[in-house]
Amino acid sequence: MGNDDPFENMLAQMDRAEAYADVDHGVFERLKYPERTLKVTLPVELESGGVEVFEGYRCQFDSARGPFKGGVRYHPSVTQREVEALAGWMTWKCALVDLPYGGAKGGVICEPKDLTDNDLERLTRRYTEGIRRLIGPETDVPAPDMNTNPQTMAWMMDTYSMYEGYTVPKVVTGKPLEIGGTPGRVAATGRGVSIVTERLFEYLEDDLGDATVAVQGFGNVGSHAARLLDDAGARIVATSDVTGAAYDPDGLDVPTLGAHVDAGGLIEEYTAGDLKGAERTQWDEPEQISNADLLELDVDVLIPAAVEGVITAENADRVRANAIVEAANGPTTVAADEVLSQRDVQIVPDILANAGGVIVSYLEWVQNSQEFSWPLETVNAELERRIGSAFDETIERYDQGDVPDLRTAAYTIALERIARAHEYRGLFP
Ligand code: NAD
Repeated sequence: MGNDDPFENMLAQMDRAEAYADVDHGVFERLKYPERTLKVTLPVELESGGVEVFEGYRCQFDSARGPFKGGVRYHPSVTQREVEALAGWMTWKCALVDLPYGGAKGGVICEPKDLTDNDLERLTRRYTEGIRRLIGPETDVPAPDMNTNPQTMAWMMDTYSMYEGYTVPKVVTGKPLEIGGTPGRVAATGRGVSIVTERLFEYLEDDLGDATVAVQGFGNVGSHAARLLDDAGARIVATSDVTGAAYDPDGLDVPTLGAHVDAGGLIEEYTAGDLKGAERTQWDEPEQISNADLLELDVDVLIPAAVEGVITAENADRVRANAIVEAANGPTTVAADEVLSQRDVQIVPDILANAGGVIVSYLEWVQNSQEFSWPLETVNAELERRIGSAFDETIERYDQGDVPDLRTAAYTIALERIARAHEYRGLFP
């Protein structure tokens, strides 16, 4: 068990849950296969001259509970298997937080850092054309993921709308506010991570004000989680990006670091004293450590918020955090899970911890349907209510005492909900 294939990892997580879930074995086996995956070839004329051919995917995993829903990722390490695993995780996540959605995911193999804005726009439009027969406001609704953002969603919405002949805001979520986005979407995943971390502390009867936190990845999710937890009184002692990690046992100056990163700065520049758009506070003395070192810091909470498969059988023994809140998708391999579970390290699983993004995507989609927009307070209150009750249900399932960990509790709830939907709907034809 335990390998680098995220799809195998997801199947192993399902298998662990099957023994505890009240699900017919036939239905369970059906859930191990995505409904379909479209692979598209994307020739794009680059600004630098010449044509480069990219490859992209859209996987629609399961739609028993409603339209497919899931982000689009731009990354050099995208593979079909990874997209399919992420689509599976979206399916369980939407069911766990009780949204009327199935699960999907998209990805394009590319290195966005090597592409200009024009290149990214052309690539996005070509990809949208490639998958437009699958997506739609009532069928499959994409959203941002790694290296995609509201601008990417605007290009997708525009391309889709051009073919339809009228504006279809509801075809994607995570749009800019001006074209049907919702207040609160950009920060939503990080806000959800912060809410479940606070709930976990309440459950463990610990004080978040005394807690030390390490956040791997200071991107969209990690930076908002770090800022909100910093505001809530926790001490953020380390955070990172691809260039490495900044560490200060007395706590980082999160607002200053945030301003530096918002201005395009890197972590290695921050630790070297080369700050962008910010000035260092006197007490702020971070040292540069590696991403691997960050995972092994002696902290109360570790929040992996970058890529999958970072906590493995190889390093699980050296992870010293008391709790892990999985902001990234699939950061812990099954083999690592077993090691950590035996050591009673509480892991809030990804399908719960990072569900804030899809919850607020759903709220955006609902507002688009209503052709009405809600204020930020309403969106944030609804996010807190929904992720809070999914947290409570997961804890309640775990406290019944038979399931070994929170991940299995969460999977059990999600799989039972999806299986019920399959049973009611029956098998076509
Ligand atoms: P992002 O691109 O904004 O940020 C990613 C961060 O991780 C950046 O700081 C980047 O430098 C760093 N990083 C990238 N590769 C790394 C590596 N190999 N080692 C260490 N750091 C690395 O992405 P994001 O939107 O914040 O997403 C982060 C994770 O959260 C992903 O797993 C994504 O699937 C998951 N997620 C995102 C959302 C969302 O709403 N954005 C929702 C649910 C889950």
